[in-house]
Amino acid sequence: MSPLHVIVIGAGTGGMCLAHGLRRAGISVAVYERDRTRADGVHGYRVGIDPTGNQALGECLPRELFDTYTATCARTPAHFNVLTERRRTIASFRLPESDDPVHSERSVSRMTLRQVLLTGMEDVVHFGKAFTHYERGADGTVTAFFADGTSATGDLLVAADGTGSRVRRQYLPHAKIRDTGVIAVSAKVAVTPETRALLPDEAFDGISVTFAPRGQFCIWHVMEFKWDRDGAVKHGVGGNDAELIARWPGLLYDNTRDYINWGFSASARRFPPGVMDLRGEDLKRVVLDMTPNWHPDLRALFRAADPGSCFPIAIRTSEPVAPWKSTNVTLLGDAVHTMTPGRGVGANTALRDAMLLTRRLVAVRDGAASLLDAVAAYEAQMIPYGFARVADSLAQNGTNGDDPLHRPVVGRAVLAANRMFFRVTNGIPALRRKFVADLTAYRAADA
Ligand SMILES: Cc1cc2nc3c(=O)[nH]c(=O)nc-3n(C[C@H](O)[C@H](O)[C@H](O)COP(=O)(O)OP(=O)(O)OC[C@H]3O[C@@H](n4cnc5c(N)ncnc54)[C@H](O)[C@@H]3O)c2cc1C
Repeated sequence: MSPLHVIVIGAGTGGMCLAHGLRRAGISVAVYERDRTRADGVHGYRVGIDPTGNQALGECLPRELFDTYTATCARTPAHFNVLTERRRTIASFRLPESDDPVHSERSVSRMTLRQVLLTGMEDVVHFGKAFTHYERGADGTVTAFFADGTSATGDLLVAADGTGSRVRRQYLPHAKIRDTGVIAVSAKVAVTPETRALLPDEAFDGISVTFAPRGQFCIWHVMEFKWDRDGAVKHGVGGNDAELIARWPGLLYDNTRDYINWGFSASARRFPPGVMDLRGEDLKRVVLDMTPNWHPDLRALFRAADPGSCFPIAIRTSEPVAPWKSTNVTLLGDAVHTMTPGRGVGANTALRDAMLLTRRLVAVRDGAASLLDAVAAYEAQMIPYGFARVADSLAQNGTNGDDPLHRPVVGRAVLAANRMFFRVTNGIPALRRKFVADLTAYRAADA
């Protein structure tokens, strides 16, 4: 073990990828997580991992765990569809198929990914440790303090504690996170023959988006896994995947089963006051009340959602922060560059940060760089690409409350233009190919 000891606050996507990378490199690391157990918390549902994220996981995770990650992904979506609120398919693009573990798009359930990332890290992750503040020691160390009165000391403190980061609030108090003025409501519906029939076939087989009047938007994901309702490997899944799933201890903590995930969003102004405090049936009722003209099948999916899975999210973004003088405290993921889900790259960017910081700290282990130079080199790269992703995520899919889509009259014209764009693109093979190439090229840009 190198003498370097790294303290990570937050056992989320980025923090755990970093912890694996460091441990694999023989660098001492401890992760402190406020949740009490590995199965606590609602962490959302589907997350799309692109080649950038796959590459980071491939580089940081032990080989067998990376294989377990790929084995536990949901079936890859075959189509990207655009549906109207009347359930008509305006466009359906076939997505490229790839078995390549890195150069492919993967659909992952957040709880499953969390369980994969926690696998084999029992000695590294400390649960029930809510970070409160840090102090620097005269000897160059940094000490993190927790709400239970305990503390931990290391050479480097990494904030991987997400959008509400307490570390960021102390370290970069001028950094701003703000609501975009859009609220999303997300829920899961169990896949059954009845719920399956509520979506067009191509939507069941893929990812679909619905742009609707009044700036309403809905994303539909269908998540089918290789294990059944009882957690047993499904018939027909064979070979290595079946073996990996069967011996993966994470499945014991993961109650994920096949589901349809919908995420409905609109300008916050369109929601009733107090919506952020609602849960369950009350929240489903809000979505149903806002969508009286939607097709009965789509409304049936809103109605069929498991009430316990239904929660609201205020969509947030961050303001670019000017580079700061590097120290033995640094940040990764949402803790520094929270972005809207517009481009679906928040988790991928957190994973990229983890890979990059691991590489820089390996240079410290090898005596090729000082700790502060390594942190400075990491931040010099991470800040520009992180905030570039923040900007292009905000420009996408109406996740900004100021977007013309949310304006009363202009919004209708924008919606009409958007539908025309998809109809024309869908009808002309060369445009179809370009659309799919652009979609996948963007997502793969950082690999
Ligand atoms: C609706 C929605 C859809 C999205 N879809 C996608 C997508 O398809 N693709 C994609 O790439 N990204 C997506 N994202 C973004 C992605 O979820 C995040 O960017 C990603 O999870 C950030 O990872 P992280 O490690 O920075 O933080 P998180 O994964 O949020 O982890 C933070 C961890 O820190 C812990 N923590 C917080 N405070 C403390 C404390 N005081 N002390 C100790 N621990 C603490 C938390 O409990 C948590 O475990 C989406 C986001 C939203 C809102």
